Amino acid sequence: MQTMATGESEVLALFGGPKAVQSNPGDMFDWPIVTKEDEEAILDVLHRRAMSGSDITQLFEKEFAVWQGTQYALGFSSGTAALQAAMYACGVGVGDEIICPSLTYWASCLQAYSLGGTVVFAEVDPQTLCIDPADIEHRITDRTKAIVAVHYLGYPADMDPILEIARKHGVKVIEDVSHAQGGLYKGRKVGTLGDVAAMSLMSGKSLAIGEAGILATNDLEIYERALSLGHYERFGSNIQTEYLKPHVGLPLGGYKYRMHQMSSAMGRVQLRHYDERMTEIQKAMNYFWDCLEGVPGVKAHRPPKGSGSTMGGWYAAHGLYCPEELGGLSVTRFCQAVSAEGCGISPGANKPLHSHALFNETDVYGHGKPTRIANSNRDLRQPVGSLPVTEQIPSRCYSIPWFKHYRPQIIEEYALAFRKVAENYERLLEDDPGNPESLGGWHFFRHR
Ligand SMILES: *Cc1c(COP(=O)(O)O)cnc(C)c1O
Repeated sequence: MQTMATGESEVLALFGGPKAVQSNPGDMFDWPIVTKEDEEAILDVLHRRAMSGSDITQLFEKEFAVWQGTQYALGFSSGTAALQAAMYACGVGVGDEIICPSLTYWASCLQAYSLGGTVVFAEVDPQTLCIDPADIEHRITDRTKAIVAVHYLGYPADMDPILEIARKHGVKVIEDVSHAQGGLYKGRKVGTLGDVAAMSLMSGKSLAIGEAGILATNDLEIYERALSLGHYERFGSNIQTEYLKPHVGLPLGGYKYRMHQMSSAMGRVQLRHYDERMTEIQKAMNYFWDCLEGVPGVKAHRPPKGSGSTMGGWYAAHGLYCPEELGGLSVTRFCQAVSAEGCGISPGANKPLHSHALFNETDVYGHGKPTRIANSNRDLRQPVGSLPVTEQIPSRCYSIPWFKHYRPQIIEEYALAFRKVAENYERLLEDDPGNPESLGGWHFFRHR
């Protein structure tokens, strides 16, 4: 880690000093890595006019299942579709409930509406930003069908206590692995721990194959129920689950969910290189945080060393912010100053879902009441104020650069941007505008 000279270089770039980031990042942030191998695989599908088939998709599913370490994998047109199918496969139907963190992308839970179900939000742990196992059990009712554990921003959710609670109450566990492909929880691969895993593989994610999703499970019934929802051409005489047999031939959900074969073809290539590229990302991202060890105000969002847990491909990596260590400086002002150093970052993460109208008032389907409670036996809505830990998170986190290559010198410059601001925060307090009423976004962040 380069040490800072005194004098000129300590003047923050925001106040006219030299920027901490001087080097051109080159391809540091480019993702996914696309080579001739991807091009050839995709062109093969194109030239064979096989875009709408499923031969390549089924090869990809087999290879993915081996890599993931599950018996079955099923490709989808999106992660949203894969998660909806996972909910359906776990038995979510009219009046049923899933328990999910509010701090996540909407597709971790919103599809429950389309099944006649609804969502109950649980708090997150402020260090992991994943669902807090201690806030789940009291939210379980006789209508709860599943707990959705999101490995949020790459951090593996604390699966052991979650699984214990789920087993005790006979509810299923769905892992949303969209942020964490290849990550480990205590040495075990995320996506193999719950009853079913579903994830996005769209182009912004760490395993990025175009526009696609996939579901993985060891449970044949879950696999076949997931298939029945929107894979009409594969929902036929091959089905082994007795009660599904009389219904084969048409998609039970009225959806068409198969994966585009150009994505499957790219998926086969990307998967072959994924572990190696992920290892490089892990090395780079861990080095970034090692450079910032002990700097006030900023704290790594990563599992402790030696825990056997990892961040997978560090999708949408974030850091934790402790304003009390910087005289109460707002994360908004902090991010302005770091960005001025040549390291563009933004405050907050996903806006807590329970603060959106769709989880409070919106009547989507004409029930004459909010969809959230359209089929419920009670008013389970959670107004702003009801999830205080979650509601604090946006003012206590910020995006960090997502390095794809281990190039220490460049990474050190980006780390210096954070260190410089944290060590010279006092002048920033003078004109700190504070945080706006809400931080973060409903969609996602810039992927760098
Ligand atoms: C991206 C994402 C999804 C949805 O996946 P799509 O492929 O975009 O439909 C679901 N859950 C989380 C947590 C995500 O980030």
